[in-house]
Amino acid sequence: MDEEFLSKILACPACDERPSLVKTNDGWKCEVCQRVYPVIDGIPHLIIKEGLTPSPDQQTQESI
Ligand SMILES: [Zn+2]
Repeated sequence: MDEEFLSKILACPACDERPSLVKTNDGWKCEVCQRVYPVIDGIPHLIIKEGLTPSPDQQTQESI
């Protein structure tokens, strides 16, 4: 599937402003809420509960 086309039509369903998503190695990432939506069989799954949120544990580890 054409990633350039997808980058124009994809928008984060979790953010009110519907920001466009950025393709990463892990999937499509929203730079506003930092969710990453997985690509399954070449199709981006823009489901909020499947989006990966940054783990609070990572921030805790950095501060220790
Ligand atoms: Zn978002």
